[in-house]
Amino acid sequence: MSGSRLKVVVTILPQAEFVEKVGGEMVEVTVMVPPGASPHTYEPTPKQLFEVSEADIYFQVGSGIDFERFFMRKISEVNRRMLIVNCSEGIRIVNRDPHVWLSPINAEVMVKNIYRGLAAVNPENEEYYRRNMEHYIEELKKLDEEIRKTLEVLPVRYFMIYHPAWSYFAREYNLTQIPVEKEGKEPTARGMIALIDQARRLGVKVIFASPQFNRKKAEAIAESFGGKVVFIDPLAKGYVENLREAAFKIAWSLRGNE
Ligand SMILES: [Zn+2]
Repeated sequence: MSGSRLKVVVTILPQAEFVEKVGGEMVEVTVMVPPGASPHTYEPTPKQLFEVSEADIYFQVGSGIDFERFFMRKISEVNRRMLIVNCSEGIRIVNRDPHVWLSPINAEVMVKNIYRGLAAVNPENEEYYRRNMEHYIEELKKLDEEIRKTLEVLPVRYFMIYHPAWSYFAREYNLTQIPVEKEGKEPTARGMIALIDQARRLGVKVIFASPQFNRKKAEAIAESFGGKVVFIDPLAKGYVENLREAAFKIAWSLRGNE
């Protein structure tokens, strides 16, 4: 290893984890959307744009997430010499859903794109990045197998969720989300009645929600059909542990539906 640390900027926390796993001690990572904030509504601060102006690389999620749709132009304008890498290169975006990172298979693609970006800007440490990438991809493959085992035996294969961030995850493991929000919008009064009706008919006992957002509303809906709210986090930094935990929570709740 040689040289000073690369200044890297990412949009969301799971990407920070990926970059730190591949870049190790050679990178210093800034996250634009901080813990507790939403990548659908967050706006960068002047201090963050200053950080961007000094960065070597920006890793975009690249899947059309709102923060990037609104601010990528500005971000690229404050620093014309930094490399901008699209982490979703090679991932098929389905139904314009930007939450690509929640499938470990997609995460593997993102990690490879991160490796390529780091190696392009800092070729003298290419081998170090490659070893780190290979090691982390092993972890992701193990995670995928574990989740598959956790979820494959479930007789019920749908789950109700407030903000439908988990469609890539659901698709990967042959599950179906029943979303409360449709196209990023709260349900109408009529939509709500239909949803509660559907929950009763299907025997749904749990609504999943992000711990940061819409807690109260999710609880109100759950209450109306005698269910409860379970939190799964689409934006946690500790990626592997977080997805493992989400899979267990989903499995546990779907067993309750038997
Ligand atoms: Zn989202």
